[in-house]
Amino acid sequence: MARIVQKFGGTSVGDVGRIKNAARRVKCEIDRGNQVAVVVSAMAGTTNQLIEWTRLTSRLHDAREYDVVVCSGEQVTAGLLALALQDLEIDARSWLGWQIPIRTDGVHGKARIKAIEVEEMRRRLTRGQVPVVAGFQGVSPRGRITTLGRGGSDTSAVALAAALEADRCDIFTDVDGVYTSDPRIVAKARKLSRITYEEMLEMASQGASVLQTRSVEMAMNHRVRVQVLSSFTEAPGTLVVDEDEIVEKRVVSGIAYSRDEAKITVQRVADRPGVAAAIFGPLADDAINVDMIVQSASDDGRTADLTFTVARTDLDRAVSVLERGRNTIGFAALKPDPDVVKISVIGIGMRSHAGVASRMFQTLADKGINIQVISTSEIKVSVLIAAEYTELALRTLHTAYGLDAAG
Ligand code: ASP
Ligand code: MG
Repeated sequence: MARIVQKFGGTSVGDVGRIKNAARRVKCEIDRGNQVAVVVSAMAGTTNQLIEWTRLTSRLHDAREYDVVVCSGEQVTAGLLALALQDLEIDARSWLGWQIPIRTDGVHGKARIKAIEVEEMRRRLTRGQVPVVAGFQGVSPRGRITTLGRGGSDTSAVALAAALEADRCDIFTDVDGVYTSDPRIVAKARKLSRITYEEMLEMASQGASVLQTRSVEMAMNHRVRVQVLSSFTEAPGTLVVDEDEIVEKRVVSGIAYSRDEAKITVQRVADRPGVAAAIFGPLADDAINVDMIVQSASDDGRTADLTFTVARTDLDRAVSVLERGRNTIGFAALKPDPDVVKISVIGIGMRSHAGVASRMFQTLADKGINIQVISTSEIKVSVLIAAEYTELALRTLHTAYGLDAAG
């Protein structure tokens, strides 16, 4: 007998018919003799609607009341799924975050889970009861409802799986697994049967929106085996696992892209100590994250240009922070550019294989695509290019690394 956490995302509980379908997926595991705990998202589109209502009501809203509103979609689906399970003769009950409780810090809108008290749930699981947990929500040290950030019900599910020491955490989502690249763009993308935590973490943080990044971190830290799959097919999905569980070793596992970046070039800054600090210090003080950075000699040969990326949503703020510091920093001009995309080649095999980066650069050069900024980590090479080349770059790189599906 195994203990399994099943998480149903917004599309899998998008209407009453789908909620009944999710209930049948739970019943399948029960019929196999397994213990099942369920975590649900809000019905697709609901959370967006709730956020919109808080904005329309109060532009500068109180974050605590924002959480009260936006967490409510999950309450609805938890109750409905518990009802659907009861109709299949399964003993089921709903749990809201504060009832368990799922304890978080007090950072409303983006809280982190600190602890989950699962003794009572464990007792009921062994009696055969199915808990249906509202994802995305917890309770702060002050007893207020918190939410975990967009996509946070993935993290609720993984955290619950860790607390319950579950054998597996199945995440039912709108795709049937993790692909070598976005199948909507790269027709020859293949579904991976397995991927390591490290690779999945890079994929998630580099733009593949299958799992919330924090949920992958949590799975990695607690060694929770996660499966990404669809509730609409019977096909097995992708298992996110430890490196030793991967038999077929690949150098490159996937190619991700992110359109959420924007580029800023600070032109002709003095080439002297302290300049980078003068630029990035104030940005950090304003909680603006900088991702990729490159410094190059400027046209006049005596000064330097500094180019870096920030989240696109931070672009305007970053520009005004730098304009304010213009006298201290000392630069000739600022050039913001939102029309860029970050493409990342990801694979743990890179640790032991040379030539992965150079192949990327050559492949893009052959297509006449200019690389604007480069950054690397142990298992990833990222480049920033003009957004108009997104599709071309993804497809040619996919072929160049031998990832294309046969046929
Ligand atoms: N319903 C929340 C959201 O849309 C949480 C989730 O779906 O994971 O972000
Ligand atoms: Mg999601």
